[in-house]
Amino acid sequence: MNKIKELENKSKNLRKRIIDVCYKSKAGHVGGSLSGIDILNVLYNHEMNIDAKNPNMENRDRFILSKGHIAEALYVTLADKGFFDKKELDTFSSYQSRLIGHPNNKVPGIEMNTGSLGHGFSLAVGMAIGGKMGQKDFRVYVMMGDGEQAEGSIWEAAMAASHYQLDNLVAIIDRNGLQISGTTEEVMALDNLRFKYESFGFNVIEIDGNDIPSILSGFKLARKCKGKPTLLLAHTVKGKGVSFMENNASWHHGVMNEEQYQQAMDDLGGMCHE
Ligand SMILES: [Mg+2]
Repeated sequence: MNKIKELENKSKNLRKRIIDVCYKSKAGHVGGSLSGIDILNVLYNHEMNIDAKNPNMENRDRFILSKGHIAEALYVTLADKGFFDKKELDTFSSYQSRLIGHPNNKVPGIEMNTGSLGHGFSLAVGMAIGGKMGQKDFRVYVMMGDGEQAEGSIWEAAMAASHYQLDNLVAIIDRNGLQISGTTEEVMALDNLRFKYESFGFNVIEIDGNDIPSILSGFKLARKCKGKPTLLLAHTVKGKGVSFMENNASWHHGVMNEEQYQQAMDDLGGMCHE
C-alpha cells in the first residue's frame, strides 16, 4: 500500500475512534477534532521524528496542541501510535482518568498542558528558541484554531517567532471558519490570515487540511524555508466526514444520541472493530 493510501485509511480509522470516544463519554469537541485529525495523522505518522517507546528522547520533534479542547483527537492519535494502550481511551473524561478534556502532560507523548486559548503558540515559540540556543536540530509544531486567532497573545508569539528567525517552527491554523458561537467572520473577523502572517514575517503556505497529499506537500515545503517561521494555513471543514456535522457550529461540542452515532459511523464506513 502506498504512503498516501495508508495515511488516508489511518485518518478514517482515527475519525471513527474520535466518534466512538465522544459518543461513549458524552464529552469532547467533535467538530474541531474531525477538522484537525488529518493534520495530526500526517504529523505523527509521517512528519515528526518521535518514538512512542521513548517519548522523552532528547532530540524528538515537539508538538503543542494550542487548540487544546480537541484533546480526544490527540489522544486517539497517540494511542494508535502506541504511546499508551488504546483501551485507556474508554476512560476519556471520566473520574480519575488521565485522559482529561484538555491535553495533560501526565499522558506519554504530551509535552504541555494546553487549552487555555492563545497560550500554546508562545510555548512552541519558546521551545523553538530553546532548540536554536542549544543548537539542536529538532523541529517544533503547533496547531491553533482559527477562533483562537482572536487572542492577543497569538500575535505576540508571531512577532517573536519572526524576530528570532525560527525556521525550526511550523505553526498550523485549523482554518475551519467556525468557532463555538458561529463563523469566525461574525464573531471576530480574521479577514486575510495570509496577509496578516506574511506581514509578521512568516512564510505562509496554504493547504487543504483535509487532503493528505496537500498536507504532505505543505510540511515538505516548510522544511525548505530558511531564516523565517512557517505558517501552514490549513483550510478544513469542521465536522469533516460526518454528514450532519460538517460546517455546523453546533457540533463544536455537541453530544450524539444513539441514532446520530450510528449515522456518523455509517458515514465513515462502518463500525469501529479495531
Ligand atoms: Mg475553528
